[in-house]
Amino acid sequence: MKLKSKILITLNSIKRNYYNWRYWNNVYKNMMKYTQSLASKDKSYMLLYKNKPGIALSFDDSFRINDWYKYGNKIFGYYDVKVTFNINAIHHFKGKREHTQKEIDMLLELQSMGHEIGHHGFKHKKATDYSNDFGLDSWIEDEIVTLIDWMDQQSHSKTLEKFKKPVSFAFPHFLFDSKHVSELVPKYFKIVRGHLYKENLISFNHSGFTPSICLDGYYSYNLHYIKKIMRLVKKSGKNLIFTCHSILPKEFDWDVYGWGKEAKKSGTWRITPQMIQTIINEAREIGLEFYTTSEIAGIATFIDHNFEKCIRELISNPSLKWIPLSELSPIVELDLSNQGISNLDGIQYCVNLEKLHLGGNNITDFRLLKKLPKLKKINFGNDLKEKISNINY
Ligand SMILES: [Zn+2]
Repeated sequence: MKLKSKILITLNSIKRNYYNWRYWNNVYKNMMKYTQSLASKDKSYMLLYKNKPGIALSFDDSFRINDWYKYGNKIFGYYDVKVTFNINAIHHFKGKREHTQKEIDMLLELQSMGHEIGHHGFKHKKATDYSNDFGLDSWIEDEIVTLIDWMDQQSHSKTLEKFKKPVSFAFPHFLFDSKHVSELVPKYFKIVRGHLYKENLISFNHSGFTPSICLDGYYSYNLHYIKKIMRLVKKSGKNLIFTCHSILPKEFDWDVYGWGKEAKKSGTWRITPQMIQTIINEAREIGLEFYTTSEIAGIATFIDHNFEKCIRELISNPSLKWIPLSELSPIVELDLSNQGISNLDGIQYCVNLEKLHLGGNNITDFRLLKKLPKLKKINFGNDLKEKISNINY
């Protein structure tokens, strides 16, 4: 290589590093400025559930389902972290075809592991351009309602599991106006996610617009600042959403997918499994929790429909679209006997639970019960008692 081109490459990389440093330094400084202006003694924004500040990991674009399923599933399962996957009904490339049943099955399996499936627009259109061209009502109809209906029509090919009603929405391309937010909340969603805004921190039970910090693609994460930002989250007592796209090892060649030139740029919007592990480890070390976007918005979701039905009977308005977390914390005794329940996910929200009746169900995993600090009495019923005799509860 000629000396001149070597110098050019070095100069370009210095320039790139400088811009990266400047961008992340600005994000951090801005957060510091606005966080300091918060009334630090006012803890009224802390709420129920765990009362612990935390991180929500949010992943966009469901044409990336293979990456999410292959790499995300393992890490999140291992670390017991629930995240939010924001989906469309179509593949961005491949002629913009609808998701195949295999892809839908994978999405529903992520949901059955406790991850949140959020709404990211039927065809991933830009909210601003689409409503300028066709009107706000058409954008709502074509991009929002159509995907809600589409999700409602899908089910898993084997388990027949269906998508839950989405609680959160993520704006495609981070583009929107305030009129989009007011059209969407509270009619369709409890929370709608965009990009950077002032301190970027949000309180529990948040409704309306929420900012997030994008880690990949153009914004190219800077670990030094991510760690500093996470410490700021801890100090503030609030929550922060990190937005990412694909989950792929560094060495994975995006061209393998064969989606052509058009898809090239989308391949740069990716985070490595190692980086996710680093973020999880750092969060655990400094005492940050992990939440889904809907949990931060104060909404409880359940994997098991029968369990959800029991909980709905206990809340003030059983037909509410979404179950508020605030209605679960006062529960001290719960009788779930003979309700055909097989999965206890969601019980962790009943933080004040003292007595629990579980007899006559088909439950095999009791680990979540360890997350209930006040639980003193569990009535397993006769058949379950035998089943769990070997489980070290
Ligand atoms: Zn997107």
